[in-house]
Amino acid sequence: MDPIRFTREAGCLAGEFALAEVGRLRDELAGDQGVVTYRLAGALVRGRPALRLLVEADPTLICQRCLKPYVHPLHSEGVIFLAHNAAELERWESHDPLMDVIVAEAHMDVRMLVEDELLLSLPVAPRHEEGACQQTEIAQGAN
Ligand SMILES: [Zn+2]
Repeated sequence: MDPIRFTREAGCLAGEFALAEVGRLRDELAGDQGVVTYRLAGALVRGRPALRLLVEADPTLICQRCLKPYVHPLHSEGVIFLAHNAAELERWESHDPLMDVIVAEAHMDVRMLVEDELLLSLPVAPRHEEGACQQTEIAQGAN
């Protein structure tokens, strides 16, 4: 897809794929089940071309507290600004270092954008919600 044209036409696209297909995610997952769904919308944000990206997934991770697999719901929404070239990217970033900006290429790999967002939204230390670990099984393991 041509991202600048996509934002100018306020394009929108959505889709999903299996988490098992994401090679870069393989080491993080405790199981092959689960899907990623995404929605990508082109827009002008503060007068600049940008992509609004929504990513949701339900990966199975290993809880760092009880070492059991569990399903961790992910929900990530971000705005990615599209610079026309490297000079513009540097100028924008110097004004706002926290800005998420990439150089718009003639053909953009949507799948790669979604995978990047997914990897960034993974928890550093995955764990069950407080009190949700299976305490009895830990006790049995300690005996
Ligand atoms: Zn746990």
